[in-house]
Amino acid sequence: MPDLPPPSLRLRLDPGALAANWRALDRMSGAARAGAAVKADCYGLGTERCVPVLREAGAARFFVAHWSEVPAVLRHADPAQVSVLHGPLAQADVVFARESGVRPVINSLHQARLWTAGGGGPCDLMVDTGINRLGIGMAELSDPAIAALSVDTLMSHLACADEDSAMNAGQLARFREACGLVPARARSLANSAGIALGPGYHFDLTRPGLSLYGGVPCPGLEGQIRQVAFPQAAVIQLRRLGRGDSVGYNATFTADRDMAAAVVSLGYADGFLRPWGGRGALAYEGVRLPLLGRVSMDMVVVDASAAPLLREGDWLDVPYSLPEAAAATGLSQYELLTVLGRRFAR
Ligand SMILES: *Cc1c(COP(=O)(O)O)cnc(C)c1O
Repeated sequence: MPDLPPPSLRLRLDPGALAANWRALDRMSGAARAGAAVKADCYGLGTERCVPVLREAGAARFFVAHWSEVPAVLRHADPAQVSVLHGPLAQADVVFARESGVRPVINSLHQARLWTAGGGGPCDLMVDTGINRLGIGMAELSDPAIAALSVDTLMSHLACADEDSAMNAGQLARFREACGLVPARARSLANSAGIALGPGYHFDLTRPGLSLYGGVPCPGLEGQIRQVAFPQAAVIQLRRLGRGDSVGYNATFTADRDMAAAVVSLGYADGFLRPWGGRGALAYEGVRLPLLGRVSMDMVVVDASAAPLLREGDWLDVPYSLPEAAAATGLSQYELLTVLGRRFAR
């Protein structure tokens, strides 16, 4: 197989911004230390590139969701720094945790028993304080299966941290109660938005994810977080449209004049989803080029009238300031990051 030619899609990462975001979130965490949620391949940006930067910035605790995500993180972090949020589902997970040295997050009495029966050792414990997702119930905390655990980090997860909601104070009160019931080396409650709720929510360790990668989930983080991911796509063809010509599937755009159009190597298979169609724009050296018609699987077409010097092979910027992109498309900032596809050169 000969060497592959250069790609027509690339995802530029600003490592300085990633490091600065971790430091800003660590600073805002006050006396607590900030860890890093690195699940889902660092929210789609690439574990291989992000974890070394986060580690260099000072992050010393990493959270993944699946066991399958552990090996990539262990290339750059010590096993004792890595926690697996989904916890052990079966004996094979327990064996893997014990042999690799990473810590399972125990989420149920079943998982607690599985872990202890498999030999146990330090683990983390997730208590459910109201999100009703993963986590042991408050009433189960006094169960002997929990007393048998050696808990490193006791944690809970906020349901509404990005909103001014009464849920937050309620979950905080229940988490404090849980801290009084379960001896642990450290306590952790806040995700990115939770950090902005103030010192009462910080405990010993915070667990930012989204905001490391440029997401701004709440007003309290505005002005603190820099954009990290900059997608770019190449022009694969220039064409002229005449008055009355339509563009793309279902002919949803019709030209009302002669105009220049550019076909771009970016489509919904790359995570550039259909809500961008009709309202989004790409940019050439800062000049806005509106999308024409629908997003296809592998292509979009833009109005190139404003960029007479544009050539085939030139790179266009995909506007990816996450708060603005979310407002434009109706997609969440989390979705916008994690959908970016495998065809982007990372
Ligand atoms: C994903 C996740 C985080 C990170 O949340 P963000 O909102 O991305 O900051 C923290 N804790 C748990 C348990 C998570 O699942």
